[in-house]
Amino acid sequence: MVLPSFLAYVPRDMSSSEFGHIRPWRHIERRKSRQIMVGSVAVGGDAPISVQSMTNTPTTDAAATLEQIRQLEEAGADIVRVSCPDEESTAAFRTIAREARVPLVADIHFHYKRGIEAAQAGAACLRINPGNIGSIDRVKEVVQAARDHGCSMRIGVNAGSLEKELLEKYGEPCPDAMVESALNHARILQDLDFHEFKISVKASDPFLTVAAYQQLAEAIDCPLHLGVTEAGPLRTGTIKSAIGMGNMLWAGIGDTIRVSLAADPVEEIKVGFDILKSLGLRHRGVNIIACPSCARQGFNVIETVAILEEKLAHVSTAMSLSIIGCVVNGPGEALYTDVGFTGGGKGAGMVYMNGKIAGKQANDGMIDHIVDLVEAKAAELDAARAATAVLNAAE
Ligand code: SF4
Repeated sequence: MVLPSFLAYVPRDMSSSEFGHIRPWRHIERRKSRQIMVGSVAVGGDAPISVQSMTNTPTTDAAATLEQIRQLEEAGADIVRVSCPDEESTAAFRTIAREARVPLVADIHFHYKRGIEAAQAGAACLRINPGNIGSIDRVKEVVQAARDHGCSMRIGVNAGSLEKELLEKYGEPCPDAMVESALNHARILQDLDFHEFKISVKASDPFLTVAAYQQLAEAIDCPLHLGVTEAGPLRTGTIKSAIGMGNMLWAGIGDTIRVSLAADPVEEIKVGFDILKSLGLRHRGVNIIACPSCARQGFNVIETVAILEEKLAHVSTAMSLSIIGCVVNGPGEALYTDVGFTGGGKGAGMVYMNGKIAGKQANDGMIDHIVDLVEAKAAELDAARAATAVLNAAE
């Protein structure tokens, strides 16, 4: 199949930011939030939407927690949260924070002393609700510790643990109650002239989550940490998260995200990036476009894609690959991807590079050939981006 000459190769998954002028229907206007720092990671404003997860090892087992943090770092995590339920945990947190390459959020909840200890131990951010830790003097102590150690904070409202007064006032967890709770906590910090905080208002129900965030986004300008909490196991939790967070991100709401799955935390990072990739908000790794296959397929699409996904998991460069079973859609998809393969007849298919035909390839050996092409293209893109960065820095 010959492609019409008026069609130009522009990688589709680059288009939201880099090619927004020619594809305005892909543009997402992000809510203007103020920016805070979580260690070295900027959250809010025009900073990239960060992806985070949480360790589930006992924090007191510093070695196991660090090993999990390493896995999350390799998967691309920008920020990792670690629970600090007791003094032994905050003691271990010091070792963990020293070794971690990504900034750590210490999850505190109720005990103000754990917050102070975690700030002293190297936390980049404290997840703590100031209204839950007792007297204003305790809050002042935590805020002082955060100031002294360059910590930001996250106010985390959860539909499952709303204050009794708000449940009595509203009758059940609802957006108004969640937003009121968040703003009450925020006011405590604002009254102490502390503004380095972000907020989450999570529920396990995507409807409630989205409505609460929409309302909160109108009420305050701080960065928002998005999440559909306790979303469930890998498949259904991913779907719920993609619907809930996808809806908000598409509307421009959200500065950092955590997918909450009853699964390996590394999956949370992968799903988080996949949600952002699908919306063109952030790119990491190979975006594989593949057809579901049918009787027309010239090779086994499903098996090939599964193997390629595994073999290309190490590629962190943002790029695209189309693997399509036949010429019905193959050439058209290849036009917008960096590398493409379209099944043909007689045990061979067509390879595409940068939207153009690059030759025939037998189905045998096709996987290794595609892996080589993707790795070479990734190296080329990395070199080009590095050169652009040098040029921009020199200007
Ligand atoms: S691209 Fe071809 S093989 Fe794939 S689903 Fe469509 S018709 Fe079937």
